[in-house]
Amino acid sequence: MPAFTLNKERNQLISDVHELSVSKIAERGAYLDRIGDDKVDWKIPEYLAKMNLLAPIIPAEYGGRGLSMMAATSIIEEIALGCAGAAAVVVMNIFALTPLLITGSEKLKQQFLPDLCAERPHLACLAISEITPENDLERSSRPREDITRITTTAELKDDQISLNGTKDFVMNGAASDFVVVLARSKESKQKSHLQMYLVPAKTPGLETGRVLNKVGMRSSHTVQMGFRDASIPLEYRIGRDGGGYFLLTQIYDRNMPLVAAIGVGVARAAFELTLKVARTNKMLNRNLNLNQYVSSALVEMSTEIDAARLAVMRAAYYIDKDDNYSRAAYMSKLYATRVAQRTTFQAVNIIGRLGFTVGHPAEKYLRDAQMLSMIAGSEHLHKQVLSQQI
Ligand SMILES: Cc1cc2nc3c(=O)[nH]c(=O)nc-3n(C[C@H](O)[C@H](O)[C@H](O)COP(=O)(O)OP(=O)(O)OC[C@H]3O[C@@H](n4cnc5c(N)ncnc54)[C@H](O)[C@@H]3O)c2cc1C
Repeated sequence: MPAFTLNKERNQLISDVHELSVSKIAERGAYLDRIGDDKVDWKIPEYLAKMNLLAPIIPAEYGGRGLSMMAATSIIEEIALGCAGAAAVVVMNIFALTPLLITGSEKLKQQFLPDLCAERPHLACLAISEITPENDLERSSRPREDITRITTTAELKDDQISLNGTKDFVMNGAASDFVVVLARSKESKQKSHLQMYLVPAKTPGLETGRVLNKVGMRSSHTVQMGFRDASIPLEYRIGRDGGGYFLLTQIYDRNMPLVAAIGVGVARAAFELTLKVARTNKMLNRNLNLNQYVSSALVEMSTEIDAARLAVMRAAYYIDKDDNYSRAAYMSKLYATRVAQRTTFQAVNIIGRLGFTVGHPAEKYLRDAQMLSMIAGSEHLHKQVLSQQI
């Protein structure tokens, strides 16, 4: 049986993040949710950068905290307790730097990782999803998740790589030091010849496009990104030739529990609010939580949240041991997403009509939880991955 314990220092860190999350992140997240997500806001990244938590898995040799996945998921849960969007910004940062950690050259690591650990906030992004000609709301005719059909190209021109294409829904895109992009090699006839490249933000030809106004996680900023003959040195290619697809699966496998931890955090926020309301509000002259239907729902919510956290911890434990973790990782994401969606739905049911008014925390939780189905691949895609592993 795995031992899910952290040392005293890590527990103190989690408790400090909890404090920050309930005292500052929740308030800022609620404010940003109200005003919209069309601008980059640096306040929450500033809080987190001061604690070196914007990229907490970066090893100490590059200035990071070198957190294990077990500790990192606990931190993400605490941030998501305050605001799921804020947690997503950190998670997408980690997604973007993971290819460097897995297979980046020492030079690239030295050049790009230390800034992500600086006291002044720095972000990175991962650009995979694409805008396609038919990617026009309901006129869309094919799943854009079909990675083998991505159209962004990379062409070798005089020791430089020239990138062309448009990426969609890139979180942190407008605020990043660098973007890690998945592209198809123009020279290769093979459909599966995909490669990842690191493109520094100041590269001529790298453009930030339309801002995507999201229904949930509105404290994060998401944009389209254009590559118009964006030229980078050959050494900014990440990993082995044609290894882009495999590298992407590794990034997803390793980091899925972080997305799951956002689910646990948002579910916990919704549950704690509902419990407070149920213990305070009266129905037929007695507190709401004494109503059998309500108490039964509260017990189920609480049980599911604990089970989701255990699923996250199990996956994190296997990742830290580097032991066959893919199945546990995807399962944790699938289950925690479900729990977040069920819990936030039930929260609105129990809190009642006020919980369904704009600006009430319960309706924010509901929208934030819904986004989890689509982060780092759709729920259906994740089930397809799992169907080959059960
Ligand atoms: C908040 C948020 C942040 C995001 N951040 C980023 C980011 O930083 N970088 C980035 O590149 N992308 C990002 N995305 C995009 C995200 O990765 C995609 O939304 C996700 O991969 C799903 O793709 P899609 O929305 O295009 O759905 P589609 O791929 O168009 O899917 C449409 C339908 O087909 C189903 N489907 C798709 N593929 C399969 C399959 N193989 N088997 C069975 N069913 C399938 C889906 O489940 C869905 O029902 C973000 C999305 C959100 C919501």
